[in-house]
Amino acid sequence: MKILIVGGVAGGASAATRLRRLDENAEIIIFERGEFISFANCGLPYYIGETIKSKNKLVVQSPKKMQKRFNIDVKTFHEVTEIDRKQKQIMIHDIKNDKNYRENYDKLILAPGAAPIIPPVEGFNAPNVFTLRDIPDTLAIKQFIDKYKPKKAVVVGAGYIGMELVENLHKKGIAITIIELADQILAPLDPEMASLVHQHLKEKNVELYLKDAVKEVAHQDNYSLAKLTSGKEIKTDLILIGIGVRPEVTLAKKASLEIGKRGGIKVDNHLKTSDSDIYAVGDAIEVSDYISGEQGLIPLAGPANKQGRIAANNICGISEKYDGTQGTSILKVFDMTVAATGNNEKLLKRFGISYEKSFTHSASHSEYYPGAQTVSIKLLFSPGNGKILGAQIIGHQGVDKRIDVLATAIRAGMTVYELEKLELAYAPPYSSAKDPVNMAGYVASNILKGDHAIIHWDKIGKIDKEKTILLDVRHPSEFKQGTIEGAINIPVDELRDNLDKIPKNKKIILFCKQGLRGYIAYRILVQKGFKDIKNLSGGILTYFPTTQKQSNMDIH
Ligand SMILES: Cc1cc2nc3c(=O)[nH]c(=O)nc-3n(C[C@H](O)[C@H](O)[C@H](O)COP(=O)(O)OP(=O)(O)OC[C@H]3O[C@@H](n4cnc5c(N)ncnc54)[C@H](O)[C@@H]3O)c2cc1C
Repeated sequence: MKILIVGGVAGGASAATRLRRLDENAEIIIFERGEFISFANCGLPYYIGETIKSKNKLVVQSPKKMQKRFNIDVKTFHEVTEIDRKQKQIMIHDIKNDKNYRENYDKLILAPGAAPIIPPVEGFNAPNVFTLRDIPDTLAIKQFIDKYKPKKAVVVGAGYIGMELVENLHKKGIAITIIELADQILAPLDPEMASLVHQHLKEKNVELYLKDAVKEVAHQDNYSLAKLTSGKEIKTDLILIGIGVRPEVTLAKKASLEIGKRGGIKVDNHLKTSDSDIYAVGDAIEVSDYISGEQGLIPLAGPANKQGRIAANNICGISEKYDGTQGTSILKVFDMTVAATGNNEKLLKRFGISYEKSFTHSASHSEYYPGAQTVSIKLLFSPGNGKILGAQIIGHQGVDKRIDVLATAIRAGMTVYELEKLELAYAPPYSSAKDPVNMAGYVASNILKGDHAIIHWDKIGKIDKEKTILLDVRHPSEFKQGTIEGAINIPVDELRDNLDKIPKNKKIILFCKQGLRGYIAYRILVQKGFKDIKNLSGGILTYFPTTQKQSNMDIH
C-alpha cells in the first residue's frame, strides 16, 4: 500500500508514524511545503520570549530521524498543488528545484492545518507587521526584536496565540497594547471569567482596548500609527496579528472534496472525506462538538494528533471513530493559568441547550499550608440531570489538574453529583480534603437539589431595591473595604442574634466573599422561616471583577 500525507506537523506526522507501526511494508511519503516537520507550534511564542532558548528545541523530529526510525520518506520544501482523484495521483511542486511531478497513492491523508486570518487593513503588509504560525514566522519576529529593539507593540486580537505573544513580548520589556473587537478577551471564556484576566492585565500594565479594531496602519520613518475604529491612534514599533485561523482547504476545494458549513474539510466519524480513499485530520477539518454535536472548527494540537492516529488505524483496517472535540485548552497569562473544557455559556445559548451554572472560588491547597491561592471555577451543567456541560477555571496554581479532572468527567458523561464523590489526591501542599472540584460539585448539586437558591451577578443590577434587602454577611472589616451599593452588614456569625433586623416582607439577597458564608447564612434564614432568599453565586469574587471597567486604556 502506498500512502501519501500532505502536511508534516501535528496531524500528518502522527498519522505517518502510526501507519508505520501498523504496517512495516507500506510506502509512506510526507510532503511538507515548509522546511520543518513535526515542530512544536505551541512552543513558538516561548522562543520569542526566550523561555525556550534554543531553536533546535522547537524541532521535535527531523526528516532524517523519521527516515531512520520509521522508514518514512519526508519531502520538505514540497508543496502539493493538486489532487487528481480519478487517477489517484497528486501533483507536487518541488520548491527548491522548481519542478513539478506526480505521485500515485492508494490512500491520501490531508493534514494541511490552518492559516492565520489577516484582515484587509491598509498597512498590514508592512515589514513590522507579523503573524505567528511556524518557525520562519517565529525567527522573523525574533530577528526584528533583536535588531530594532522595539519599545511598543500592538497585538491585534486576544485569542490564545495573541495572549501568549503578549506575555512573551512583555517579558522582553516591550509595552503592549491589545486591540480586541469583542467585549472580552479569550473567546473560550465567558465574560465573568475573562474579567478576572482583564484585571490581571491591569496589574501587568498591559493596555487593553475592547470593542475596537485597527482600521488602518500609517507607517512613518520611526514608528507606525495604528488607527482604530474608535478614532484613537496608537503609536507602535511592532504589530502582531492574532485574530484567529481559517482551515487550509485550498487543495480540498480544488479537488471538489466536500467542505462543511463552517468552512473546514468535511469528514465522517472515521475521518474519511467525501472521497473514500482520502482522509483528512487536524485544523483543516470540521469536527463535531462533543457536547452539542454541532459542527465546529476547534484547532488544537491534542485533537490533531489523535485524529492522525485514528486515520492511520482506519487505513490499516482497525476501525475507529472520532467522537468529537470538547475543546479542552489551557493558557498561561503571566502569573495566571486559564483553562476551559466543553461548552461555555455563550455556546450553550447558541446551541439552545438548557443549563445552570455555579461559581466557586476555592483554595488551591489547604489554606493553613503556605502559598495557597484562589482557584475560580465556573461549572455549567444540565438543570435536569446535572450532566456536566462545560467548565472554565482560572487561578495561579493547580488549575491544570482541575481542568483535566473535569475534562475527563465530561468524557465519562458524569454529573455534578458524581463530582462530589470523586476521591482526589490530598495532602496539604497539593489540595484540601474537599478538592476545588469536589466543592464545585457540592455547590452545583445543592443548587439542583434546591438546598440553596442562587442569584447570578448579572441580575443584581436589575433587582427592585424597594422590595429587596442586600445582606453582606462578611466580617465588618471586609464590609468597610467595599461592598455592593445599598447593602447592609450582618456577619454570618452574628446572624442568629440579629434576625429582628431583617424585614420578613422583603426579598433577601445574601452575599459574602465567595459564596460559602452566604450559603451558611441561607441555611440559617430558611430554617428560621425567612422565605424569598437567594445567595449571590461566587460572591463578590465573581461580582466585583465583572462589574468593573473591563478595558484598560491609555496607561503607557
Ligand atoms: C503559535 C501557536 C501556538 C499554539 N499553541 C497551542 C497550544 O498551546 N495548545 C494547543 O492545543 N494547540 C496550540 N496551537 C495549535 C496547534 O499547533 C494546531 O492545532 C496543530 O498544530 C494542528 O495540526 P495540523 O497537523 O492540523 O496542522 P499544522 O501543525 O499546522 O501542520 C500543517 C502543515 O501542513 C503544511 N502544508 C499545508 N498545505 C500544504 C501543501 N499543500 N503541501 C505541503 N504541505 C502543506 C504546512 O506547511 C504545515 O506545516 C498553537 C498554534 C500556534 C501557531
